[in-house]
Amino acid sequence: MDNSANVATTTTPKKKTKLCEICNVQRPVLKRPKTGQMICKECFYQVFEDEIHHTIVSNNLFKRGDRVAIGASGGKDSTVLAEVLTLLNKKYDYGLDLFLLSIDEGITGYRDDSLETVKRNQEQYQIPLKILSYKELYNWTMDEIVKEIGLKGNCTFCGVFRRQALDRGAVILKANKIVTGHNADDIAETVLMNLLRGDIPRLQRCVYIITGSEGALPRSKPFKYTYQKEIVMYAYFKKLDYFSTECIYAPNAYRGHARDFLKDLEAVRPSIIIDIIHSAENFHFREENKMPVQRNCTQCGYICSNDICMACDLLKNLNSGLAKVKLSINLKRKDKDQQVLDNSNNNNNNNNNNTNTFNNNLKSTLEIKTNN
Ligand code: SF4
Ligand SMILES: [Zn+2]
Ligand SMILES: [Zn+2]
Repeated sequence: MDNSANVATTTTPKKKTKLCEICNVQRPVLKRPKTGQMICKECFYQVFEDEIHHTIVSNNLFKRGDRVAIGASGGKDSTVLAEVLTLLNKKYDYGLDLFLLSIDEGITGYRDDSLETVKRNQEQYQIPLKILSYKELYNWTMDEIVKEIGLKGNCTFCGVFRRQALDRGAVILKANKIVTGHNADDIAETVLMNLLRGDIPRLQRCVYIITGSEGALPRSKPFKYTYQKEIVMYAYFKKLDYFSTECIYAPNAYRGHARDFLKDLEAVRPSIIIDIIHSAENFHFREENKMPVQRNCTQCGYICSNDICMACDLLKNLNSGLAKVKLSINLKRKDKDQQVLDNSNNNNNNNNNNTNTFNNNLKSTLEIKTNN
């Protein structure tokens, strides 16, 4: 009796080894967050770098002979930016002179450690490094500022001072362009924050890939369409040397909420980050939201839209001891506003749901005003 038919039906078919969805040769080691594809390490590097190259070329971020200062904090974003720009500059012969520019805010136990990473990056990438400190520019460190004003509003000082410090550092390096490691997640978060705050001018500006062209030093974001998760993967697989501790003064207030919200949305719709950026790129704004006219600060000459720039204004308050007073007035105002809200809440029991939503929104707005 011939049993061959039975044998054929009972044999377990050999399991087919899955291969990288791009090259079909290597075994996949990761699932690409942006597309969900299972791919190998080499193909991941290739698509990651190719997309950044495409962003650079299609947006004309650089031209041959540019001196480009990379805002380097020692964190994953700027370290990957230094690695990728060094690589693309060689591979596609961009003809750029690259520099690392680090700002030392004077935060003990955070920036001093991360600067050690940047110093090693300087050796690894063979790019000249310039470190400029708040102390030498403003005669204040962030440690001293926090001692003076506490942990409310510290990031406002830090953000304004850093923006100007980067420009001043780039001038010292004779750079004509600045690049920063802001990634797609950062930009989508900022869009959400500005939308929720109703900050139309910032909403308009925050998706620009190049800003500051009206001044002497345009700054751009080559990672505008790059997912944070992919930057982390790239740094991890390439074993890059970066510093991953958060600033000890991070308030994590409003941006933290936007970040959490975005993470929840991303869990159900992975393309949400790029979708938000594309939506914001297509917003149309009314004429009256145009940028204010730029002029020079009467105290330091920095480009600004008022008589004196924000850094000089904040410094004036710090040096005269007014910063603390102004903040406490803001906080008192916040309490007063809260009281008004509480009273109005008591008088409006009929419409409890709406009132609570309104209060929460207004509370957040007040929080932003004091925190940022
Ligand atoms: S978290 Fe705030 S204080 Fe710390 S580095 Fe960032 S902006 Fe500066
Ligand atoms: Zn592959
Ligand atoms: Zn000024």
